[in-house]
Amino acid sequence: MLEITDLSAAYGQMTAIRNISLRVESGGILAVIGSNGAGKSTLLKTIAGQLKATTGSIRFDGEDITTLTPHERARRGVSLVPEGRRLFASLTVHENLQIALSARRTGRWTIDAVYDLFPLVAERRNRRAGEMSGGEQQATAIARALVANPSLLLLDEVSLGLAPAIVGQLYDRIPLIQEQGTAILLVEQDVSQALRVCDDVHCLLQGATSLAGRNLELADISRAYFGSE
Ligand code: ATP
Repeated sequence: MLEITDLSAAYGQMTAIRNISLRVESGGILAVIGSNGAGKSTLLKTIAGQLKATTGSIRFDGEDITTLTPHERARRGVSLVPEGRRLFASLTVHENLQIALSARRTGRWTIDAVYDLFPLVAERRNRRAGEMSGGEQQATAIARALVANPSLLLLDEVSLGLAPAIVGQLYDRIPLIQEQGTAILLVEQDVSQALRVCDDVHCLLQGATSLAGRNLELADISRAYFGSE
């Protein structure tokens, strides 16, 4: 469903990702892992259309989307949960979810369905988003992206700034999202959480692929992650 070939992107003169090629199958799940600054967020921004590709192509559902706007990609079913969540802090949780209804495609994920997936978000529906804990905000950000009914969900560093137990609870939800037929591409620094939910792994080191495959050995992933022997 998603096929990326030789993708590069840059901030001005600084190339942040170089010649990345990867695939996510329909309903599949892929983890892109790498340390701070490896280029993970850049990869997701380029797939979502927030950053222009300097080389390569992005195909989605058989169509070349490399030059489409973020809005056009969202309409085709690509939804990004950005790093830092970016909720509207002064609006309630429920209002944050309602905003996503404007981009809604037909499908399984209604506001009630995402409340079932994240009961804590349902309990907090009348709270201002800015007053919630980091974990609750992350759950709300994922819920908001799902309400649009994406066929591909891009998750940027779910674990960022959260206690391990909270990260574990959020990751427990990922297989349930995938079971509904939503494909997921997640990027993570937290290798152990990513490996809990993904067999397919793509490692980035300084903007380039250092290792990719299924059911990889942890020792190999560790070398690919840190760039050491
Ligand atoms: P992190 O977990 O810290 O977000 P990452 O793997 O997501 O790491 P990116 O954020 O994609 O990495 O950053 C890749 C490189 O691009 C880094 O060297 C970073 O400093 C640089 N970079 C990221 N955003 C910008 C920007 N807006 N302008 C200039 N350089 C940037």
